[in-house]
Parts: sequence; C-alpha cells; structure tokens
Amino acid sequence: MSIMDSSEHGQVGTITVWIELKETSQPLTFEAANTYQKGDLFCVYVPRENRVYKIPLANIWRVTEEYHARAEPERPGTPQQFEQYVHHNERVWVRSDLKGQHREHCLCYSCHGFHPGTARNCTLAQELYEFDVKHGVTTPVWECPLFVAAEKG
Ligand code: SF4
Repeated sequence: MSIMDSSEHGQVGTITVWIELKETSQPLTFEAANTYQKGDLFCVYVPRENRVYKIPLANIWRVTEEYHARAEPERPGTPQQFEQYVHHNERVWVRSDLKGQHREHCLCYSCHGFHPGTARNCTLAQELYEFDVKHGVTTPVWECPLFVAAEKG
C-alpha cells in the first residue's frame, strides 16, 4: 500500500479521512488539516484537537480522503459553497461558511436551563438534541419563549 503526503496535493481547507483497519469493521474518521507518512506510521493532524494520530501502516487496510476547499468569505453575487463532514457519526452537508458555528447562534448556550448531558437539562433542549442525533441534523435555537439568561461568572 502506498500512502502519500496530502500536503503534496497543495490543498487548503480540511480533509475528511476514513481509515479502515484490518481488524475492525468501523472506520476511524478524522477532520484533518493534513496527513503524512512518517516511517512505519500514517499520521493524521487534527487541528481542532491540537493532536496528531499515528497509526501503524501494518494495521491499515484502506485510507480514503475527501478534500474540502476552504470557504471564501461571502461576497454579494458569490455562490455559496457546501461541504460534507461527519457529525454525530453521520455524514452531513453544511454551508462551508457556517460549519461548526451553530453554538455561537444557539440561544440555549446562554440560557439558565441549558445543562447538556445531565438530568437537569431543559426538556425542550434535550428533545431537540435527541431529534438531531436521530435524524443527523443540527438545529440551533434561534428564538424561544422559555429562555432565561444565565448568570455570568
Ligand atoms: S428554555 Fe429554550 S433557550 Fe433555554 S435551554 Fe430550553 S430550549 Fe434552549
């Protein structure tokens, strides 16, 4: 098997990497900035985690990489760009300029009742989260009649 350094492609933006190991059926999935080979290791740099994953080449059956061009800032008359990535174990489509920004727009993250991952979580937010995971969608709360601003600090 020959594995190239993805930086040789001169790509900018992110790379979705699926690594299928010889011994497991589920591929490992990464949102990477770069992949490369170092000795007997296949390396995947994931900037969001500030981490490099190093996997022995001998354990790998197949590597698939999908390149996503970096989104250009939106200008009037510029067509929007879209891309795919893996979220909640689902390959989803997203507008490139809005990828990963749902938290910044979701009212829940400023709400007194929002306690994700705990039994105290707002029932509405919890229902919405479960709906999103079930259907592979992401639905930030833009408006809500039950919102109470969380105390700062
Ligand atoms: S009350 Fe509304 S804004 Fe607050 S956590 Fe629940 S759904 Fe989100």
